[in-house]
Formats: sequence, structure tokens, C-alpha cells
Amino acid sequence: MRNLFTDVFDNYSTTRAKLGGVAKLVGTPDQVSLLNEIPHRIETFLKDRKIAHLYKVKGSIGNGNIARVPWVGIFRKEVTENAENGYYVVLLFSEDMSKCFLSLNQGITAVEKRYTKSFAWKKMEEAATRALSYLEVAPDVWKGKIPLASTGDLGRAYEAAAIASYEYLRTDPPSDAVFFENLTYLLKHYERLFSLFGKNLHSLFSVSEEEFQNVVLEKAAQLTTSEHVKNIVSAPLFVNPLSNKYVRSPVVAAAAIQAAQFSCEIDATHWTFLSRARKKRYVEAHHLIPISQQSHFQASLDVVANIVSLCATCHRLLHYGADNERKSLLMTLFRQRKEQLQKHDLQIGSNDFLRFYAGTAVIED
Ligand SMILES: [Zn+2]
Ligand SMILES: [Zn+2]
Repeated sequence: MRNLFTDVFDNYSTTRAKLGGVAKLVGTPDQVSLLNEIPHRIETFLKDRKIAHLYKVKGSIGNGNIARVPWVGIFRKEVTENAENGYYVVLLFSEDMSKCFLSLNQGITAVEKRYTKSFAWKKMEEAATRALSYLEVAPDVWKGKIPLASTGDLGRAYEAAAIASYEYLRTDPPSDAVFFENLTYLLKHYERLFSLFGKNLHSLFSVSEEEFQNVVLEKAAQLTTSEHVKNIVSAPLFVNPLSNKYVRSPVVAAAAIQAAQFSCEIDATHWTFLSRARKKRYVEAHHLIPISQQSHFQASLDVVANIVSLCATCHRLLHYGADNERKSLLMTLFRQRKEQLQKHDLQIGSNDFLRFYAGTAVIED
């Protein structure tokens, strides 16, 4: 392994510069190491331990654009077979080629798409910290965030999403014995997380109401064309197994906000301040039939038809106001949305609708 690591450390930056940013196969020693030799050595190791059938091993120098942080991933097939999703063990070379990490890390693309990039990184870091608390990790293991000297998004995501890692310096690459002992150790913890959490670690981070509304506004400001908005109707709804709550989709709520043109649907003249999210007016997304009532419906409640855009006062009123205060607001919204809800197989009479709100101290979205 030492020589293979050195081939990458010594040549990757030069190859990257020569290729002018394009991920092209040119058979240099760094590419042979990353794409063939290192994956092959890891596969042989897994075969010897009779667990090769459980894993897919793959090296990458990037797709289209050449990667600043090249990697070799070891994916447990039941969790994921690609770097975008789930979590896996991955050998990551730092951008400045001064070191590399063998890291139990997370695929970040799915979370980035659902929320925003910087928010996703923050939440993956939170998931990594929580995941660590379920593992008993030896003192010599690097815990949490790793420094990859990265100036690109992918590297920064890997820095934030690292759970447990081993560091190897360019000046002191690991022997085979050390590397495979470390790999065995991380695979053991990979198995442990799989037995606890299944295919992804998304249940390990939570999104507060405030965070949700901020991401929704940010995403709503990015939705520009009405065509774009029209295509976003619903998202698959899932339950977070740890909190046992339904997880709302920010992009669906964003489409509803954009469709309402960032105004309050109780009364478009309600004044709201400009938010920092690209200078759009500050409004909040509210699920008219509260998402906590999902068990009463076959069709998803997380649809644009069921999400209203409200000024902060009206929104708080719906959640915390006295029944007689909020009844007229609820009826206004119900009348506006009744037909749209029916189109989405959400049939409900006004009395049943009001009952979802009656008497409860807190309406959970
Ligand atoms: Zn609400
Ligand atoms: Zn209002």
C-alpha cells in the first residue's frame, strides 16, 4: 500500500494541472493506483476474509471535472453502491496531497438536494456526531470533522460528514498491516451503524421549525420559473424513526411560497419585512391539514395544494391563537384550498377540518 499511496501523493496534483480540470484517463501512476491498484488490493483483502460479496469497491478521480479530492470508496451494497447516498468507508486524499484519511463518511448529495448545501453540511456534521455517540471508538481514531484542505464543495462536504477516520501523512504512509487493521476496524463500525439505522443516517439530525422555514425561503427564492414550480407537486413523505415524526420537504413548501408570490394568503396586503434570503418578503409555510394527521389520509399531505404561505402573525395565530380567533382564518384558507385538496385525493369536510385544530394546545405541522 505504501507505494500505491506515494504514487498518488507524488503525481496527482501534476496530472490534475496537466489535464486542465478535465477527468480524463491518461494512465499516470496516480490514476492507476486510484482506479485499479488500490481498489484491487482492497477487494483481495475482502475476498480473503470471505466478505467480498457484501461490498463494492470503486476509485474515482471525478466525473467530467477532475476531483480535487480523489477517493476510493468501499460501499456496503445493502446501504449504497454509490458515493451520493447513504454512508460508507472511503479513502480520501487531501487537496494539497499532504495526507489522506480512511474515513467512515456519508454521502451528501441527497441531503444537499433536499435542503441547501451549507445547511446539508451542518446537518451531516450533526448526524456524524450523533452516530459517533452510538459507537465506542478507540482513542487513536480521528473523531468527526477531518481537514482535507479542500476548496471545492465535494471535499468540504466530506470534511463535515466524517464520522470516524484514520489519518495517514504523505511523509509516513501506512504499512499493509496497519491499513488493513484500520479498515477492519472501520468496517466493524460500519456494520454496527447499518444494524442500528439501515440505509442512511438522516434520522440522526433534526430540523427545527425555524431552520425549516429559513431553508424553505432560501429555496423559494431560487425557484424562478413557474414551469419549475409546477413540476414540484409533492415529495415522498417519510417518518423519522427516532422522533417518530413526519419529515416535511422544503422544496415542496418552497414551491407553495413561490406560487403565492411571497405573500400572506389570508390577506395579500399583510405587511412583512424583507428577509435575508435574497431580499424576498418573509413568509412562512404552513400545512393546512397538519402533517401530524397523515394517518387519516391515503394521499400525501406534503403537497403544494396543502401548503399555504402566511405572514408570521397569521402563522403564529393558527398555531397558538384561541379557537374563536383562528376559526375565520381557517375557514378562509379552507375555502380557498378545498378544490385543490380534492384534486389530490384529500377529501375533507369543514367540520372535520376544524376538528384538527380545535382545542389542541399545539398544532404540529
Ligand atoms: Zn404551521
Ligand atoms: Zn397574514
